[in-house]
Amino acid sequence: MHLLRALILAIVAACVSAPPQPAPDTKKPVPALQPPSDDRIIKGVQPLSYDLLLDVDPSQEGYGGQVKIRLRLTEPTRVIWLHSLDHVIQMASFHQAGKKWLSLKTERAGKDWLAVRLPQVAPAGEASLSLRFSGRFANPLFGVYRVKEGDDWYLFSQLEPLGAREAFPCFDEPGIKTPFTVRVIAPKKDRVFFNTPKLEEKTDRAGKILHQFAETKPLPTYLLAFAVGPIDVLHRPEWDMKRADGSSLQIRLLAAKGKAKRGKTALRETAKILALEEAYFGSPYPYAKLDIVAVPDFAAGAMENPGLITYREQLLLFDEKVDPISRYKAYANVHAHELAHIWFGDLVTMAWWDDLWLNEAFATWFAYKIVNQYRPDWQVLTDRLGGFNWVKESDSTSTSRRVRGPIKTRGDIHNAFDGITYTKGHAVLSMFEKYVGEAAFQAGVRSYLKKNAWGNATFEDLLIEIEKASGKKGLKAAFETFIFQAGVPNVAMTGGARCGPVTARQVRWQPLGSPPLPQDRPWQIPLCFKDLGTGQNHCRLMDQPKEVFEFTGCEGPLLPNPGGAAYMVPSLGTPWLGALMAQTSLTELEHVALVYDLRKAYSAGHLSPEQVLALAQGVSGTSDRVQQQALGLIGDMGGIVEGDLRPRWQALLGRLGLVHALEHGWRDDGIDDPAHWQIRRTTLSWASRWSGNDALKAEAFDLANDLIEGRPVERELAPTALSMLTEDGDAALFDRLLAAFEQAEDPWRRSTLLQGLAGFRRPELSLRSLNLALSDKLRSNEIGRVVWGPSGDYRVRDQAWTWLKKNLGTLRELLPRNSSRYLVYYPTAQCTELAKQELSAVFSPYLGGKEAMEGLDRHLQAATERIDRCMAMRKKHQHALGKILTQGP
Ligand SMILES: [Zn+2]
Repeated sequence: MHLLRALILAIVAACVSAPPQPAPDTKKPVPALQPPSDDRIIKGVQPLSYDLLLDVDPSQEGYGGQVKIRLRLTEPTRVIWLHSLDHVIQMASFHQAGKKWLSLKTERAGKDWLAVRLPQVAPAGEASLSLRFSGRFANPLFGVYRVKEGDDWYLFSQLEPLGAREAFPCFDEPGIKTPFTVRVIAPKKDRVFFNTPKLEEKTDRAGKILHQFAETKPLPTYLLAFAVGPIDVLHRPEWDMKRADGSSLQIRLLAAKGKAKRGKTALRETAKILALEEAYFGSPYPYAKLDIVAVPDFAAGAMENPGLITYREQLLLFDEKVDPISRYKAYANVHAHELAHIWFGDLVTMAWWDDLWLNEAFATWFAYKIVNQYRPDWQVLTDRLGGFNWVKESDSTSTSRRVRGPIKTRGDIHNAFDGITYTKGHAVLSMFEKYVGEAAFQAGVRSYLKKNAWGNATFEDLLIEIEKASGKKGLKAAFETFIFQAGVPNVAMTGGARCGPVTARQVRWQPLGSPPLPQDRPWQIPLCFKDLGTGQNHCRLMDQPKEVFEFTGCEGPLLPNPGGAAYMVPSLGTPWLGALMAQTSLTELEHVALVYDLRKAYSAGHLSPEQVLALAQGVSGTSDRVQQQALGLIGDMGGIVEGDLRPRWQALLGRLGLVHALEHGWRDDGIDDPAHWQIRRTTLSWASRWSGNDALKAEAFDLANDLIEGRPVERELAPTALSMLTEDGDAALFDRLLAAFEQAEDPWRRSTLLQGLAGFRRPELSLRSLNLALSDKLRSNEIGRVVWGPSGDYRVRDQAWTWLKKNLGTLRELLPRNSSRYLVYYPTAQCTELAKQELSAVFSPYLGGKEAMEGLDRHLQAATERIDRCMAMRKKHQHALGKILTQGP
């Protein structure tokens, strides 16, 4: 263990004005003390500010620290509870009104509670608590953690949620915002970065450097961030933010040694994206500096620490000239999301985790809005329908949670970071923005930010401001029908194939195989019908279980919920749906939304395979985006096809893709559009595999070999070609690919080659790729790639499940913290009763006790329901699909 050095002891002495005392035994259990029953601190203690000193060396696992917390006791207090995980407390002292209590007893309780027991009751008033401690860096990828890159060691951090308590003893709750003054002692060779600018550096007698940072604005603990190591800095004054009023903001990009130069595009474009956000909010970026950090190993996509935003390095280190457009789009989306948090999350912070959606739904919604302004040609408002479609599936399980739900346990906090919060929350915000109008919504947002700046807020604070700005009485009540109950409304409609009246009934949407799902109140749905004859929209709030919509001056047919604007699933009869699918006047967004409605109708059993195939194939001749959606739906229908029928199904897909594939080929066709690349990946993959066209296949293999050998390739298509080569590849190919992967420095190349390794389908090679997860060749955030690679493929999934069962305990230690509970979805593609039983047997031991995976119970139930649905789909549609494949439709 790394112990405190002489300099720290001197600083400690300065802080607590008394020599350190012998350390008490912190492990001794004291049954008399009970920690708070939830994760919230005791109300009588209010932190006012922190002085934090950390003494670190990234090459060492241990570190030391000292924290002095200024407090206000709002009532007489005998025991101070704070969060701390696995720290050894070497000294604790308490000062109040000239009184000093040194060498206080500290006791641990629960997983991460620390109690400081005062010798007698301290009266209400200001005080300070000082703790000297040592700890070990948490791993993997949580708290403050170590990363080895080449021969160098680094420290990075991820403190949301509940990670600050792993770094230092603190009051780790989002509603508690205070200023922090931070000093870090680190080896001379390392650079050190924190949320605020550095004030000075001093050398200590041991040759280490003390880095002193400016005091932060009020922040919750989860937004602190650190980066230590031989870090590269990219800064170009011409890419700083410069505003019309003459003010400016320095923007820098940080990366591991030698890598920052790859981040030029990411750095150059930051000020442009930030300027769009400042214009929307009507207020400038409120912190003193902005560094964006490309972290070599990072569990999430990015983290919005003010002044030091951290990213997976692939998101910042890309080359717009050669990398796929999806990389640039991912950068823009994630970057716009993190920058949105500067206002929604950092400047105004949720009071408690139940309002996490105020951070995440807002930032997700806002990112699409901003990227659509930044690059309208990318059509991201159409792309987002894919996310809405996906989240409706998880929102229709019996375990789905409310967007704003009660948070009672640590598992609830972890589970709040899910699709319901991010994507359903995004869909609901988008729906109500349309309902009240963009200008009124924006005015409400600005007013909310102004009133709550530097503090905390709840959902009510936001909704009240939007309701006021829009003048729409009852908006809050309508909104609450979506965020206070789980589920997706399904509105069954009759009568609109021509012109109304339309009778509409709402119930909770249930796909095939769902258990009966509860619904506690009708949704208040802003529902629009577009008259395709006149182009007019007819909108009103549907707030009753059954309503009749009348239309005057209508020419028809009527398009319900145009563009998928409302969070709902419409059910139309087949003639109505068919009439709409054939319309040429639909916009691309409307047409794509309609294909998603078709998908939902199929999964609820309202349409047969013949009907879906006919309707989906009917969209040929429309735009690439629409056709891609239709092909995606057809491809997914094959998930239930088994045995002898599988080659027939593959031949059908091969035929469907062939004309398009031959027209455009595997090489550059001169059309650079994200939707075009996407449909080419689909048709080339199907036609080269299953149409019997050997020339196409040979071309794919050439492209894949060029990729492995490091020759310049079309990066949009090369990964698809590589997956074709590896699925039948032999051991020699595996060795070649592994060697290329180990030498790859370019982030795109490294992740593409790893994806290739995860794609071998010969059993012995699939096993080799799985075993890479247990080797030291992968970063923590790459392990999931190889683990999940074979999970859905009928040739190797049984073997992979056996492997997973054997290695679950080890994987749990290797995967990023708190992510192992998602492995519960691993066998869902097997779609059998046996898989369901095994699922329960394998994961039940982790529901509680010492080995518990926090929040697992909900996921176990959801995974079980996913298997039920798959089995129900198979039962309902397999026969008809088989008939089509053997006899033709
Ligand atoms: Zn976020």
